Amino acid sequence: VSNDAENGAHAETANLSLALEPNESSADAGDSESSTQKDILPVIGGRVTVPFRNKRHTGIVMALSEEAEVDAAKIKPIDTVLDAAPIFSEPEMALLQWASHYYHEPIGNVMQTALPKRIRQGESLTVEGVPAWRLTETGQTAESQIASNATQQEALFKALSAQTDAVTAEQLNSVLSGWRLPMKRFIEKGWVEEIEKSCLHALPSREKLARPGHILNTEQQAAVDQVLAQDGFSAHLLEGVTGSGKTEVYLGLIEAIIAQGKQVLVLVPEIGLTPQTVKRFEAYLQAPVAVMHSGLNDKERHCAWSLVKTHQVSVLLGTRSAIFTPFDNLGLCIMDEEHDLSFKQQDGFRYSARDCLVRRAQLEKVPVVLGSATPSLETLYNAESGRYHWLKLTRRAGTASLPTVGLLDVRGVPQEEGVSETLKAQMHAHLQGGGQVLLFLNRRGYAPVLMCHDCGWQAACPSCDANMTYHHQVGELRCHHCGHQEKAPSLCPNCGSGEFVKVGQGTERLEQAVAAWFPGYRVLRVDRDTTRNKGQMMALTEQASQGEADILIGTQMLAKGHHFPKVTLVGLLDIDQGLFSCDFRAAERMAQLVVQVSGRAGRAEQAGEVLIQTHHPEHPLLKVLVEQGYGAFAEQALQGRRLAELPPFQYQILLRAESVDPQSGWTFLNDVKNRLNFAKMQLLRSHFSVAESADEAPELEVFGPVSAPMLRRQGRFRYQLLLQSAQRGWLHTWLAQVESELYTSPQAKKVRWSLDVDPQEM
Ligand code: ADP
Ligand code: ZN
Ligand code: ZN
Repeated sequence: VSNDAENGAHAETANLSLALEPNESSADAGDSESSTQKDILPVIGGRVTVPFRNKRHTGIVMALSEEAEVDAAKIKPIDTVLDAAPIFSEPEMALLQWASHYYHEPIGNVMQTALPKRIRQGESLTVEGVPAWRLTETGQTAESQIASNATQQEALFKALSAQTDAVTAEQLNSVLSGWRLPMKRFIEKGWVEEIEKSCLHALPSREKLARPGHILNTEQQAAVDQVLAQDGFSAHLLEGVTGSGKTEVYLGLIEAIIAQGKQVLVLVPEIGLTPQTVKRFEAYLQAPVAVMHSGLNDKERHCAWSLVKTHQVSVLLGTRSAIFTPFDNLGLCIMDEEHDLSFKQQDGFRYSARDCLVRRAQLEKVPVVLGSATPSLETLYNAESGRYHWLKLTRRAGTASLPTVGLLDVRGVPQEEGVSETLKAQMHAHLQGGGQVLLFLNRRGYAPVLMCHDCGWQAACPSCDANMTYHHQVGELRCHHCGHQEKAPSLCPNCGSGEFVKVGQGTERLEQAVAAWFPGYRVLRVDRDTTRNKGQMMALTEQASQGEADILIGTQMLAKGHHFPKVTLVGLLDIDQGLFSCDFRAAERMAQLVVQVSGRAGRAEQAGEVLIQTHHPEHPLLKVLVEQGYGAFAEQALQGRRLAELPPFQYQILLRAESVDPQSGWTFLNDVKNRLNFAKMQLLRSHFSVAESADEAPELEVFGPVSAPMLRRQGRFRYQLLLQSAQRGWLHTWLAQVESELYTSPQAKKVRWSLDVDPQEM
């Protein structure tokens, strides 16, 4: 939950039991529907339109009652009932209610997340189709008329003629960027016609794909059998080393569940949802799969949503926000790369899709499988304590073997642009052997600091306590925290000198250096700057996996799930900061990244090698990771957490507050802290005052307020207050005692605050 003091909208949404969406167009959209007759009775979980202030809104009926607490004359009647049947089933409604309660988020905001925009605006649950384009008869012979320098037209023509069927925007986006303008030209010339494609036929599955002839190996089959042997709800951790064939296990399970006439929800990290993945699912299952991710437009999202809800497809492959999609008959939940941070929403309604998924499976009484090569410590702890079944895949599937991993001690070793001589020599050897090389550097841009050579001035962001990153190609300084950007100065604003030093390495700089060292080899950079446009990421990874590049340079975008069969050497350049961060989760994330990036090596016949450059080869966590693997690392890290009384042994809720002036946020949190301390006293007194129960009183702690790791960001001063307890129930009860005051206190009006339950980042 969060407030927004600026427009005062908060208290309003919090008190409504209807989830509302302003909707002027609902009259038109609704009246064409047969289901909008006034004689339909409202149902819980169905939509209605209601007058609110001077507008009509679409709402979801949350409860029905014969009596009202307010004067009956003040209650306005419902305008129209849009749905004769509930949109959400009982367990789905229970999930949404639970999420609202657990994350202290108004139900209206939860509903807003759960429903596609078009549904919120009152449109029909089912969709006609999406636009698609195909060559006309004239168009089919028009290629020779395209000017030789019109490369975009040429590319579009190729894409259109490669398909026997009309192509949708989503399909084009995955192969081309900037196709809309040439498309317009083609339509004007009469070469292309636009048609409407039904949602089902607009799904990515274009060609009939051959089913791969894999037979599950013993470990994979055992995992499938174990999950299927359970009745009702069961939770499973599928811990499989990179390349062990976790996806094959998911597919085996999905096949079995579909055969029972049920559906499956599969969640993957945003970055893992590539056309490759979709194709692999469709080829194995020999059936279309619905896809849901942030790149869809409103219509495509509506399409996918309604295909799932009406059971026209059996599988939904989606990212975080797909978690609340209603199903007709859900039979299994799967989350791949469950440790991935993208499953946690970091603003607005800050839910964890992983925890919601496990909860959903519980409410639906179906199995849930969480898969990862590097499980989060939370999930590992659940597996260790027996709450989750623990399934393991210990070997790579097929003929591939795990890469050898070595630490490269770079202390005192000559380096060029952050690359040691040893690593460079290894790169050479692998390239000459015909292998691909992947260099990992988790910092985009050219250099993280631009400094004046004469006076030491550094380019800092005007609105954050941070330096701006220098981007060479565009000649700009960019703040990676707030998005501020400006032209790089040609003269120092402090002393007028024209000499600057670019301090530190970014991927852009590395790309430049590597291209100079290895002339004749193709270098491909994958980071947020090279994948800004829709489809670029997919195009680049496709290129990389097809072997159309020799050296790949990337940030963590390259680390996840991709299958690059030709990569034989992976070099990690700068992971040391993960060892010394103030965030207690930094080491866990560093280890996950190292293992995941390393996992890109040697995924086919050729063996892989991983080299990690470090200035701290003796660091105990790093040593354990490299010598004994992630399992041993996690074991040690968990012990550390237990001793330090940190999650997963404790539960946390973070209250953040920020203000334009440096005082208000701090004062607000101090005030809340006082209220919390008072509430704790009352709570303990009323429940644990008798002598026999005094020992059972929960420990409820509040830490802070402290300033956020970066105090000033986007022009605001940020502070935080941490609530912690080993007893989750009591922690939430405690917070609930002061929650209403967060909305009403005079201090709250001056700040932006937000609550983060089980925060992943401090
Ligand atoms: P993970 O997701 O665990 O990293 P994948 O599911 O991507 O691994 O599988 C890695 C590779 O091994 C893929 O190319 C896959 O086709 C192949 N593979 C998986 N299982 C088998 C099997 N039983 N027999 C042959 N090849 C397999
Ligand atoms: Zn200067
Ligand atoms: Zn900034």
